[in-house]
Amino acid sequence: MIKTKAYAAMNATDPLQPYEFVRRSPKPDDVVIEIAYSGICHSDIHTARSEWGPTAYPCVPGHEIVGHVVQVGKKVKRFKVGDPVGVGCFVDSCGKCGECKSHEEQLCEKHTVFTYNSLELDQKTPTYGGYSSHITVKEKYVLKLKKGLKLERVAPLLCAGITTYSPLKRYGVKKGSKVGVVGLGGLGHMAVKIAKAMGAEVTVFSTSPSKQADSKKLGAKNFLLSTDASLFEGVASKFDLIIDTVSVPHDFTPYLGALKKDGTHVLVGAAAEPSKVSAFGLIFGRKKLTGSLIGGIKETQEMLDFCAKKNVLADIELIPASQINEAYERTLKSQVKYRFVIDAKTF
Ligand code: NAP
Ligand code: ZN
Ligand code: ZN
Repeated sequence: MIKTKAYAAMNATDPLQPYEFVRRSPKPDDVVIEIAYSGICHSDIHTARSEWGPTAYPCVPGHEIVGHVVQVGKKVKRFKVGDPVGVGCFVDSCGKCGECKSHEEQLCEKHTVFTYNSLELDQKTPTYGGYSSHITVKEKYVLKLKKGLKLERVAPLLCAGITTYSPLKRYGVKKGSKVGVVGLGGLGHMAVKIAKAMGAEVTVFSTSPSKQADSKKLGAKNFLLSTDASLFEGVASKFDLIIDTVSVPHDFTPYLGALKKDGTHVLVGAAAEPSKVSAFGLIFGRKKLTGSLIGGIKETQEMLDFCAKKNVLADIELIPASQINEAYERTLKSQVKYRFVIDAKTF
C-alpha cells in the first residue's frame, strides 16, 4: 500500500482540507506515479460542490496529473522508473466494447472509471484524483510525456488540452479556418493556442474586457466583448466552428448567428443548469449544436505529441496546496490566468 497525502472536499460546502489515504500497490499492469503537479479544472469545483449531482465524499479532485514513475508492475512494458508521465480524466474502462475498441474509452458503453468521484471496474472501490502525492494507474491509461518539457505547464493539457483539441480536430480545423472561442479560462486559453497552432484565425468571445490584450498574446486575432450584444452584428455568418467553454448557463443563439451556413457550435463547458437556444438560430443556415467530452487515450497521446512539437503549453499560476480554496474562488470570478496548478510537493 502507498501512503498518499492529499486535499479533499469532505462535503459540498466546506473548504477542501488536508487528507491522507492509501493507494493500491501496483498490480502486474500498474504503474505508480509520484505526482509533481496537478491542474485545477472547473470540473473539480463543480464536483467538489455537488453541482452536477451528489458527489461521494471525501472527494479528492484533480484530473490534470503529471509526475514520474516510481514503481512498475511485473508486466509493465511501456514505462520504467523515472519516466515523465501524465494521467487525465479517466483511469480505466471495460476495454471490450465498441467505444473502447475504437479508442473512445471516455464514452465506454459499460463503465468509464473517471479519475475521481467514480468507482473502479469492481463497482465498489472509490477513485481519488490528482490533488495528491501519488497515484496508481493501469499502464494502458497512462500518457507518455516528452522529456525536458516544463511539467507544470504540461499538466493542464491532460484535460483542458484534450477537451479542446478533440473537437478542433474532429471538425477539421486547418489553415485559414475561422474559429471562435467562448470564455477565456483554462479550456478557452488552450483552445486559442491549439486552434492557432492548427492554422486557424481565432476570435475570443469574453465577458472580461481585461482579457483583450492577453487574448492577442495567446494567439487570437480578434476579441469580442460578449456582454455587448450590438457587437455580434459585426461577426454574422463568420465562423466555421465555435468552441464554447463557459461554465454557467447562457444563451447560445447569438453564437449561432455568428456561424457560417452548416457551421458548428460545440459545447465543452458543462453548466449544471440548462441554457437557452432559439430554434430559429439553428434552422436558418442549418447550424449544428453539439457537445464533446475530453478524448480517448490514443487522441490524448496525439494531442500531447502535437503540443510538444508546436511548443504549445498552458499559461499557469503555480500554487501550494494550501491555496486551493483561494484558487477556487478566483476561478469562479473568471480571474485565473489561465490555469491554477498545484505543486504536489506541498501536499
Ligand atoms: P474556467 O477556467 O473557469 O473558464 C470558464 C470561463 O467561462 C471563464 O474564464 C469566463 O471567461 C467564462 N465565464 C465564466 N462565467 C461566465 C458568465 N457568467 N458568463 C459568461 N462567461 C462566463 O473553467 P474551465 O476549467 O475552462 O472549464 C470550463 C467548463 O468546461 C466547466 O464547466 C468545466 O466543467 C467544463 N469542462 C468540460 C470538459 C468536457 O470534456 N466537455 C472538460 C473539462 C472541463 P471570460 O472571462 O473570458 O468571459
Ligand atoms: Zn477537467
Ligand atoms: Zn468499454
